Amino acid sequence: MPVNVLFAATEERWHDYETPLRTALEEAGVTATLATDLPPEEVDYIVYAPNSDVQDFTPFTRCKAVLNLWAGVENIVGNPTLTQPLARMVDPSLTQGMVEWVTGHVLRHHLDIDFFLARQNGKWERYIPPIASERPVTILGMGELGTACGQALAALGFPVTGWSRSPKQIEGVTCLHGTEGLTRALARAQILVLLLPKTPETESTLDAAALDAMPEGAVVINPGRGPLIDDDALLAALDRGHIRHATLDVFREEPLPADHPYWAHPQVTVTPHIASETRPDTASRVIAENIRRGEEGEPFLHLVDRDQGY
Ligand code: NAP
Repeated sequence: MPVNVLFAATEERWHDYETPLRTALEEAGVTATLATDLPPEEVDYIVYAPNSDVQDFTPFTRCKAVLNLWAGVENIVGNPTLTQPLARMVDPSLTQGMVEWVTGHVLRHHLDIDFFLARQNGKWERYIPPIASERPVTILGMGELGTACGQALAALGFPVTGWSRSPKQIEGVTCLHGTEGLTRALARAQILVLLLPKTPETESTLDAAALDAMPEGAVVINPGRGPLIDDDALLAALDRGHIRHATLDVFREEPLPADHPYWAHPQVTVTPHIASETRPDTASRVIAENIRRGEEGEPFLHLVDRDQGY
């Protein structure tokens, strides 16, 4: 009997995913009926994007798992109708994209590339940036993405501190956790990268007190989620020069409204939530593997802890 897989995401995503998903399911040895429309009571798995039309999971009475296409699950994890296991997306290409985006923006600020871009004026003004070992970087959130970014930065020679909810040991990274760990992690953050999920606990992690705890002239890079930052506090810290620059990819409201002060601020770089994207070929293999596991009675990969919200 084929398993019935409902693809519940936008039409554009279906266009991107239909072929890779069919190929990946076949390669995983899963015989499946894959469609964007199936009778809910016959659906075995839902491949899901939180902006799909499916918001009530009650009719999906035999569904064994909901497989999210996105790494962030804040828009589905609290859905009271969802009783099925929920897996989030962990995609090697998404991770690689984030490593490249974070490393690129860290190096921009570390090497002060903007300084030289602004001085193409015929004057031979020498200024030697420090080397990586002299530029401590802190990453808040040491999950799939934070760990990969931390290890890449450590490999370049940056002293990397990572902060997470639970204690960790990651080669090449000083790992801290808890409230006291956060203060220590911030105090050494000449460059701070936010890779926490959005949960009630992480809301405004970077507030006025946290910004004050950072060294003078530090840089903030946020590819995590907009609500991790208290925007007014960040703007105030930028205005008084305590924070040298903020590179922001995610915002409380997206698209970022055209009149938002971030757009015009000379010390802010806005990118439109492009730090990293799930890629259909590799993500389809992750989804197919989870369906294979479900069918063979093996535990699902990348399950969300509903109580923790990520
Ligand atoms: P993940 O594997 O779930 O890792 C989350 C990390 O945050 C873990 O280290 C976790 O600690 C830590 N954490 C969670 N709550 C915490 C708290 N209250 N205090 C301290 N640490 C806490 O997630 P991921 O795959 O790395 O993704 C991280 C986030 O990146 C996603 O949730 C999403 O918002 C964002 N993202 C953005 C883009 C983009 O294009 N901008 C793309 C993909 C993802 P433990 O290790 O102790 O559990």
